[in-house]
Amino acid sequence: MYIASLSSSSTCGNAYVVWGDSTRPVLIDCGVPIRRLTASLKEFGMEPQDLAGLFITHEHSDHVKAMCLVTPFAQKYRLPVFASRGFWKWYSRYSCRLDRDLVRPIAAGEEVVVSGCRVTAFSKPHDALEPLGFIVECDGERAGFAMDLGHVTEEITSCLRGLEHLVLESNHDVEMEKRSGRPWHLIQRVLGRLGHLSNDQAAEALCDLVTDTTKQVILAHLSTECNTPEVARSAVLGRLAEVGKKVPVRVAPARETALYSYS
Ligand SMILES: [Zn+2]
Ligand SMILES: [Zn+2]
Repeated sequence: MYIASLSSSSTCGNAYVVWGDSTRPVLIDCGVPIRRLTASLKEFGMEPQDLAGLFITHEHSDHVKAMCLVTPFAQKYRLPVFASRGFWKWYSRYSCRLDRDLVRPIAAGEEVVVSGCRVTAFSKPHDALEPLGFIVECDGERAGFAMDLGHVTEEITSCLRGLEHLVLESNHDVEMEKRSGRPWHLIQRVLGRLGHLSNDQAAEALCDLVTDTTKQVILAHLSTECNTPEVARSAVLGRLAEVGKKVPVRVAPARETALYSYS
């Protein structure tokens, strides 16, 4: 299984690609301009038309930018788009052209198979309309994607525990967030139960999620103002060491691409 982060932050957008040796790639979120998305895919030898489908987690612009155009990315390259009914309701307000056959509603608990990749949706607590996380399975391995969530629910823990690859939000350091000088309502939103996961919350969750079958953890959606890769990584590694768990922990860069294959 191969996982590529094309971009991973609120400020630069979010997009991730997963593929296997015998499956076409699936794209998770498309919160970057089409031109950048296409250029990033090229870095991995892919064209947009190689993608088997697009899975959208929620409607915030850092996750859907390439869909909010008169001719959206998925229309241009004829990609089926899997997203919650909440998302589709929100999307119907826009006058974007997307053919009906590309609209694929998916609900939490549902699974779909695209080009040999099995993708299962789960719900997550975030201030959006029916936000979803996804588990992608191909080549006999599973990768769980949980970004933009205010806290980790029991349901999420049971969905993600022991997956081979865990892509988990580690958005902010709480003290850096509080001292950021941002408007108070914004700080409250980020720290709230429907906001974003802090380094400490991610670390605590990973104590439960990481098992002997976990091959790697990728920390994602780091705040560019209220976090650093070093701070996030050391918070997680420190907490995992306390409970005697050892696993490679990587950090998805805010804007650059990165490939996370595991052999
Ligand atoms: Zn986001
Ligand atoms: Zn969001």
